[in-house]
Amino acid sequence: METHQDNIAIIGGGIGGLSAAYDLIRAGKQVTLFEADDRVGGLAAGFKEPHWDWSVERYYHHWFQSDRHILGLINELGWAEQVLFPRPLTVMYYRGKFYPFDSIPAALCYPGLGWGVNKVRFGLVGLYLRMTDNWQALEKTTVDAWMRKWAGDKVYQSMWEPMMIGKFGEEYAKVVNMAWLWARLHVRTTRLGTFQGGFQAFCDQLAERLRELGVAIKLNARVSSINPTADGRLGISLEDAAEQIYDQVLVTASPGLLAHLTPMLPQDYLAGLLSLKSMGAVVMTLSLKHQLSKEGYYWYNIPKNAGFPFLSLVEHTNYLSPEYFGGDHIIYIGDYLPVEHENFQLSQTELEARFLPHLKRINPEFSPDWVNRTWLSRTKYAQPVPLLHHSKNIPAIRTPITGLYFASMSQVYPWDRGTNFAVEIGRRAARMMISDKTP
Ligand SMILES: Cc1cc2nc3c(=O)[nH]c(=O)nc-3n(C[C@H](O)[C@H](O)[C@H](O)COP(=O)(O)OP(=O)(O)OC[C@H]3O[C@@H](n4cnc5c(N)ncnc54)[C@H](O)[C@@H]3O)c2cc1C
Repeated sequence: METHQDNIAIIGGGIGGLSAAYDLIRAGKQVTLFEADDRVGGLAAGFKEPHWDWSVERYYHHWFQSDRHILGLINELGWAEQVLFPRPLTVMYYRGKFYPFDSIPAALCYPGLGWGVNKVRFGLVGLYLRMTDNWQALEKTTVDAWMRKWAGDKVYQSMWEPMMIGKFGEEYAKVVNMAWLWARLHVRTTRLGTFQGGFQAFCDQLAERLRELGVAIKLNARVSSINPTADGRLGISLEDAAEQIYDQVLVTASPGLLAHLTPMLPQDYLAGLLSLKSMGAVVMTLSLKHQLSKEGYYWYNIPKNAGFPFLSLVEHTNYLSPEYFGGDHIIYIGDYLPVEHENFQLSQTELEARFLPHLKRINPEFSPDWVNRTWLSRTKYAQPVPLLHHSKNIPAIRTPITGLYFASMSQVYPWDRGTNFAVEIGRRAARMMISDKTP
């Protein structure tokens, strides 16, 4: 008797799509993965100069030691020895200077918190958030209200408010729910992990394993619509190819993209997708001839009111040796912004003119002739914005169209987005797809 092998399409070759493909192919499905870009990796993808051994991520990326889903997948694949966990230095701005802020003693010495009771409140609040699991209670209140109440105005204004404004802008900083901050503080570690060769090396290695297992990976393949067929299957159209029919389809891109691809979704599900808020990101990567931070700092947290035209400055080669990059020194200049912000329209040269003068504030010796080359990466979907009672607004992985599934950054709540949770939701969607076809 001939058995029908389910034919599955995955839209998006980011870490979520790749993880789902891994489980689906091993469950005996026929899997085709469509990726619009010329490489896999999605938001975690990277690029490389010919003289570099390692790639650099377009958007700065690292793992935490608590990222059990992605580290677990890497273990399963037998690649654990390719993961590195250095401990780079993070600093916070205060009145024109930067102070280490990546350990309890460092936090105790940070002058921005003042002395005495504020430090105690800061410590107790941090301890509580690490210990409690009750995020459901925290999503009923905003970070602004909760922190002002429990940590106090001074601690909130010097520590958390600048981060909230930096990440969510004035529009959302006061309305993001407290479960979001809980999720960040609950699980993060000071050691930061990466993969030998960079995140792109990990994604390429995973794609290679998938190809060996039989997944068809189509790069430069942008899906333009998904349409249910009369016999209960799903037709996928690409810009330049005839419709292809699948038994099940998993979309791993943004909620806006799913709505655009599948206007036939019922109105309430579509409205739910379109009501989700998110921030974009603009990140410039620079290759420099010299080290920028003389102190060897990796991550500079910069409040918006310090007068820098960006939120974070990250010296990647104070985390990973410049030897991996042919001796070049790599820095990132990054910001989360609403998609209407002018930084989404300005040219790379205009942004360089805006950003570069401020590097002298980090190192007075910096001069523009230190710059070998710059790259500009912009994405309109970078950071979901969780408002009050957000758990009620998460779109279901199983959409109302039979056979159509959706797994994105917007659904990993209460956790914040991240490659770790892309693995978790990709694999969760794969389990559902398998079980829905199991008699
Ligand atoms: C600035 C920034 C910093 C970050 N830092 C970290 C970090 O330090 N650590 C961490 O773990 N995570 C970090 N993240 C988050 C992490 O990158 C994401 O959570 C994760 O990569 C999401 O994976 P995904 O597969 O869900 O989605 P994506 O990576 O967005 O993948 C979706 C894929 O779909 C493709 N696609 C879109 N439209 C179509 C179409 N029509 N047809 C075919 N393909 C399509 C896209 O090209 C993309 O490859 C960061 C993100 C940003 C923006």
